[in-house]
Amino acid sequence: MDIEDIRDNYKNFDDYTIENIAMKDANSLRPEVLKILKFEIQKRNLSPEILNGIEIQNRKLTKDELSEYCSLIENSTCSICSSENKKLNISMIGEVVSIIVISHYDKRIKVGCSECLNKLNTNAIIKSSLLGWWGFPWGPIYTIRSYIYNYGMRLNNTSDKPNGIFKEFVRGNLGFLETNKNNPKRISEFLNGINNAI
Ligand SMILES: [Zn+2]
Repeated sequence: MDIEDIRDNYKNFDDYTIENIAMKDANSLRPEVLKILKFEIQKRNLSPEILNGIEIQNRKLTKDELSEYCSLIENSTCSICSSENKKLNISMIGEVVSIIVISHYDKRIKVGCSECLNKLNTNAIIKSSLLGWWGFPWGPIYTIRSYIYNYGMRLNNTSDKPNGIFKEFVRGNLGFLETNKNNPKRISEFLNGINNAI
């Protein structure tokens, strides 16, 4: 696609699409496309924070910056128990579900306080052991894997410093976090959306 076609496409995108590209994909755009994106943001008078969000995705983060972005999530509301004063963490939940003879092993990312994340990991072990055994031969194998995986995650959930999954999540959502760093409500809605993703 030549640059004029891209320019026309961007002109026709609605504000929501422009904002989403800026927050999620700015680090994968060619410099000339990035220029078009910035031009559209300025032309439409969209929030200047979006431009900061683009910038942060395109340069190396310092350690302090990374921990600042982590604390935006740590200090957010737990969307599972609604607690506003518990430090949040990020975990993976591994669950096996057998439907008739087919077993699926699903891993999902969840954001919450340590207690809520521990509960989710424990529930996944219980659910896997109830449903997982029926699918043979993978059911039992996945069930054991779920036990080891979720049990390991429980150690992660209570870590005081952001764990590896946490940091990876922050790095993958820098544009959004920078754009909304002064908007705790939007951050909390975003985290709620992550927890409810299917
Ligand atoms: Zn909670």
